[in-house]
Amino acid sequence: MDPISAVLERVLEEVRPLDAGEVANYIPQLATADPDQLALAVVGPRGRVRSVGDDRVQFTIQSISKPFVLALALEERGLDAVLDHVGAEPSGEPFNAISLEDITGRPVNPMVNAGAIATTSLIEGTDVDDRTGRIVATLSAFAGRSLWIDESVYASESATGDRNRALAHLLRSHGIFEGPVDDTVESYFRQCSVLVSVRDLAVMSATLAFGGVNPVTGARVVSETSARHVLSVMSSCGMYDFSGEWLLRVGVPAKSGVSGGLLAVAPSQFGVAAFSPRLDEHGNSVRASAVVRTLSESFGMHLLDTHEGLGAPGVHVQANQGGGLRVTLGGELGFAGTERVAAVLRDLVGSASAGTPVIVDARELGRVHPGALSALRAEFDDMPEGFQLTQ
Ligand code: GLU
Repeated sequence: MDPISAVLERVLEEVRPLDAGEVANYIPQLATADPDQLALAVVGPRGRVRSVGDDRVQFTIQSISKPFVLALALEERGLDAVLDHVGAEPSGEPFNAISLEDITGRPVNPMVNAGAIATTSLIEGTDVDDRTGRIVATLSAFAGRSLWIDESVYASESATGDRNRALAHLLRSHGIFEGPVDDTVESYFRQCSVLVSVRDLAVMSATLAFGGVNPVTGARVVSETSARHVLSVMSSCGMYDFSGEWLLRVGVPAKSGVSGGLLAVAPSQFGVAAFSPRLDEHGNSVRASAVVRTLSESFGMHLLDTHEGLGAPGVHVQANQGGGLRVTLGGELGFAGTERVAAVLRDLVGSASAGTPVIVDARELGRVHPGALSALRAEFDDMPEGFQLTQ
């Protein structure tokens, strides 16, 4: 076993003794899940999927479909049109609450059922099959393989989905969508019934972590902006009415579902998914939450942790062939990095003999924030002549 999988295995064994919580039973078919199942998967930038535990077990994606259908709606309609139909405020209420704004009737966010039904209604499609086809194709592109619907879970949810139907009727009465209620609700039930494994969810998570590019297939699935929008909504609303405390304690964008899946994203680092069917009082998997929390603590995943990278871009000084000096910049140049680069340049000015030409080569920077580059240029105005920036 490779060293990272060994770490994952250790985390899994640490949380295995937790046996609190109950398997969801309001959708009859979900109640048949084996409560002891436990799995974890992680996918990094090179697209290698590492997984341990019951990693081949398939379960229905449920609410974890919501961020990905939001991504599709954002791609098809753009942020403003999406926000015309659904808000972006944490609800502090359970997933199936009637969380609608007072006057407009707009659902508060796309991660609770009312908001997810509104989001699904935005997806183009002539009928349920057409719309569901587009949704399943998008989920599949995120996962990097063709996904399928579990027809028995779909039938079970559709047969017992009165509350979601009622929510959809309310939305329609407020003009949030116009088509037939059944078309929208059945599309939503079908999207919730897509079968995934923890490995699929980890790849889907990694696709969000790497700005919309699936690191396994190399395909761009959604734009970097859409991926960022989705992660923003997951950060504030992804863990039902525990979202605030989750951000505080664990600090990662995440989304859970009632079948026991949980997906969490360490932006630019890796995607994580865990699965275990017993749920706590908020509807989040007890053991999957503990797994992600442990990983976050040991791998520094908290979004608000401080990181060196932005403050310390690579600065490599060497003698230039044609005389003078060449300063090659690498990594990412943001506000804090500009300060560091300027300090190095000032030291050079102090130590080099007057008039030494210095070329600052910015071509190898992985990412440059435009404000940072203008700030660096402004620093040049204070430097003696002979400084030159190449981009
Ligand atoms: N299909 C489920 C429902 O709408 C999804 C709920 C969830 O995972 O939060 O009730």
